Amino acid sequence: MRINTLILGAGAAGMMCARHAGGSTLVIDHAKAPGEKIRISGGGRCNFTNMYAEAKNYLSANPHFCKSALARYTQWDFIELVDRHGIAWHEKTLGQLFCDGSSKQIIAMLVEEMREAGADLWLHTSVEAVAQTADGYTVRLLREGKAQTVTCRNLVLATGGKSIPKMGATGLAYDLARQFGLEVTETRAGLVPFTFPDGRFQPLAGVSLPSRLSNARTSFDEALLFTHRGLSGPSVLQLSSYWREGEEIT
Ligand SMILES: Cc1cc2nc3c(=O)[nH]c(=O)nc-3n(C[C@H](O)[C@H](O)[C@H](O)COP(=O)(O)OP(=O)(O)OC[C@H]3O[C@@H](n4cnc5c(N)ncnc54)[C@H](O)[C@@H]3O)c2cc1C
Repeated sequence: MRINTLILGAGAAGMMCARHAGGSTLVIDHAKAPGEKIRISGGGRCNFTNMYAEAKNYLSANPHFCKSALARYTQWDFIELVDRHGIAWHEKTLGQLFCDGSSKQIIAMLVEEMREAGADLWLHTSVEAVAQTADGYTVRLLREGKAQTVTCRNLVLATGGKSIPKMGATGLAYDLARQFGLEVTETRAGLVPFTFPDGRFQPLAGVSLPSRLSNARTSFDEALLFTHRGLSGPSVLQLSSYWREGEEIT
């Protein structure tokens, strides 16, 4: 089978890419449904954008990296798309926009947009091997147990990060990047809760309160939530991206 664009991964990035890739596009995913991480996002209501999203909110070794993408597709473009699909939403705090109903509405919207753009979606499909050819790539796939070979001009890696493997996350994109000689930077967990094996906060599980959480470099004024396993909530998730092992947090 010969196509223009093959997209590996039917998450938020893969489906959004398929919507813009033009015709003759195939999206594959080894999961049984597209957008599984979107489904659990924002506590099931998907915090789908932020009114104040701008380059300085993005963590990167190169702070300029996200600028062109953010300039070409803004939060207002996404809000317009959500409105066009009749999805009701509300602002929570600090410009965070959530669905009134369910994050499944965002998945349905992306699937519809992708299909309208003429893209096909194969689920239960895994990647066996990728090789470069003179004018593109040959990819060996296993679709519902059957071998399939696809040749394409453009290959998009949208298989996401490594968090939550039980939801289908793998390091495939990192492996392929290395296969093609690209340097891969060290990966770290970010936007994650802090867990304590000694269960020291267990008696407080379920309690949440406004907090100012700081390390030596930054601080966040948002809610903190005690859980059975430790600390969570917006201030904790935010600070986790700036924390290094052994550092003190107040
Ligand atoms: C609990 C939680 C809550 C979150 N809440 C929010 C929120 O409210 N708002 C927000 O903006 N973000 C939120 N996020 C982050 C957001 O979900 C992710 O940033 C986003 O889904 C990443 O999209 P992606 O397309 O890059 O990757 P993914 O969504 O991970 O998609 C990658 C896809 O590739 C597939 N795949 C992986 N490996 C292979 C392989 N080897 N072969 C075939 N297919 C493969 C996977 O099955 C998956 O469908 C949350 C994340 C979590 C974990």
